Amino acid sequence: MVSIEAINISKFYGRQKALDNVQLQISKGEIVGMLGPNGAGKSTLMRVLTSFLPPSSGTALINGIDVRENPIEVRRLIGYLPENNPLYPDMYVKEYLAFVFKMYKQTTNATAAVNRVIDLTGLRPEYTKKIGALSKGYRQRVGLAQALVHDPEILILDEPTSGLDPNQLLDIRKIITDLGKEKTVMLSTHIMQEVEAVCNRVIIIDQGRIVADEPTADLSKIVGKSLRFRVEFKEQLTRSLLARLPFVNKVEQIQEKGWLLEAKDNKDIREDIFQFAVTNNYNVLSLSREEQKMETVFRRLTKRQN
Ligand code: ADP
Ligand code: MG
Repeated sequence: MVSIEAINISKFYGRQKALDNVQLQISKGEIVGMLGPNGAGKSTLMRVLTSFLPPSSGTALINGIDVRENPIEVRRLIGYLPENNPLYPDMYVKEYLAFVFKMYKQTTNATAAVNRVIDLTGLRPEYTKKIGALSKGYRQRVGLAQALVHDPEILILDEPTSGLDPNQLLDIRKIITDLGKEKTVMLSTHIMQEVEAVCNRVIIIDQGRIVADEPTADLSKIVGKSLRFRVEFKEQLTRSLLARLPFVNKVEQIQEKGWLLEAKDNKDIREDIFQFAVTNNYNVLSLSREEQKMETVFRRLTKRQN
């Protein structure tokens, strides 16, 4: 079953084209990451899909329902976390969540639903506070909670982890991963590692166009670059020794005892590196995968398209 469908969607702001003939289909149960630099059109696409912004042309369907014909029904099906997570700082967490719930279901008591999302998003320790008194991480949980309070089957989350510190970021990613077991999720981000950590499919958008749409596992193939690993040994090793390793393609020295190893066959070679060290009595001080720079990916992708 198709949860989210975009058919030839274009969007102009005045004369500026923000979306250029976007086509996509997201099936029930998928967790899709929309990856793109600032200004790519991620937020615009999400606003169109959630019925908050009419497209200039094309059609958006949620569970087969045209968002322009039936926006009320569409908003019932969707939980939406807008960009920058707008909240009312003077409202209490519980009060705000009940308020949002009432917008969907006037006649039902909100208490059970509010308690459910407070637990689901880990808000329990802070739920008696005013929103303005919360840390950024907890505010983001409130944003997720308001998106979930009417128990929608589809979640559309616009940069849900932006501005969070590393711990908060991991907490929010964990919540989203758990939600993804039951719901269809579409999130946007400009962090590649986020897509790899959370999503099973990645859609790359640049200048209003989808330039790649692949399973996350194939991301390194899209990027067309081998995986690279930073490793620091306690001992002074030599380039030629490392270059002879069967799982290594290329060696670059980045510090006295620090190396950048390019993997053969795009494999995660962290275990191989560790085994090599153990076998030869070397000590690994640090070992990590090199972070891919989004900018590099984009240059590569847009070049390939043109
Ligand atoms: P992203 O979320 O990927 O950063 P946006 O969808 O916010 O991208 O923006 C896409 C393009 O549309 C950008 O060039 C942006 O400047 C422009 N844009 C977005 N919102 C508006 C608006 N309300 N009025 C005019 N231009 C806009
Ligand atoms: Mg945006």
